[in-house]
Amino acid sequence: SARVLSGKELAAAVRTEAAERAAALAAAGRPPKLAVVVATADESSAWYVRSIARAAEKAGIACDIVDLGAEADPGRIRERLAELSADDTVHGVILQTPLPRGAKLEDLAGAIAIEKDVDGANPLSLGRLAAGLPAFAPATAEAVVAILDHHGVDLAGLHVAVVGRSTVVGKPAAHLLLDRNATVTVCHSRTRDLAAITAVADVVVAAAGRAGLITAEHVRTGAVVVDVGTNPTEDGGLVGDVDAVAVADKAGALTPVPGGVGPVTTALLLRHTVQAAERG
Ligand code: NAD
Repeated sequence: SARVLSGKELAAAVRTEAAERAAALAAAGRPPKLAVVVATADESSAWYVRSIARAAEKAGIACDIVDLGAEADPGRIRERLAELSADDTVHGVILQTPLPRGAKLEDLAGAIAIEKDVDGANPLSLGRLAAGLPAFAPATAEAVVAILDHHGVDLAGLHVAVVGRSTVVGKPAAHLLLDRNATVTVCHSRTRDLAAITAVADVVVAAAGRAGLITAEHVRTGAVVVDVGTNPTEDGGLVGDVDAVAVADKAGALTPVPGGVGPVTTALLLRHTVQAAERG
């Protein structure tokens, strides 16, 4: 049965380090602060935002939740992001999704100053990342590489199939994996015969947001599987994109949901916020 690549220990280590650095900043009279802009009534989004706020406060990072309401005008969201970007007491700015109808993350996130863009949402951050220039990567994409590093998976030369091409996960993950000398294939909803591609990969990164998409048929014997998906279940639980029971019998290693990529993502947001505060 597949080795379980937990994210919990790595997340705890990253949080501890962030807390130490936050304490040093506070002692120097520069306490770090993260602002999360919310414009949705979505329940799972609210749950995620609260978990970020809790983790931040535990690490000694102030967290302001700026709730503009589900009916917020895109212009108003943009304005708030610009204000927070200009506020010297704020070091990290996140724009939570989903957004009101007609508002596009890639568009609005252009108003987040790139030095405070701790979730890599500004298209300039993604461009810099793609060009190999310093930038904050989207935390989830960075978490994929971090969890593989932590468990000793050497990516150089491996064939990685990324399932999903979103601006927040699939594309930045592909860039980060290329930077680690992996050979990357990016698959998406229009990919013909997904299983034929993923089944020849050494590593499969599932980031489609479709419960049960990746079955045993999609995975080569012994492959490493990273499950980024977070799909709410009817009973209030959470499942990934991978049929974990079936895949665990065939894969060599698999990240769990919950307890895999998720906690590492949150911890990396804290690390990024502290980094931004240290520079600012
Ligand atoms: P998205 O909906 O923006 O993108 C989904 C991508 O998957 C698209 O590129 C689409 O082409 C592809 N796709 C959809 N159906 C497919 C199919 N049948 N076959 C192949 N490809 C398919 O979603 P996203 O924002 O990139 O998020 C992806 C998943 O990751 C979601 O479940 C989301 O909740 C989760 N997520 C988790 C974290 C975390 O911290 N763990 C953070 C962000 C997102």
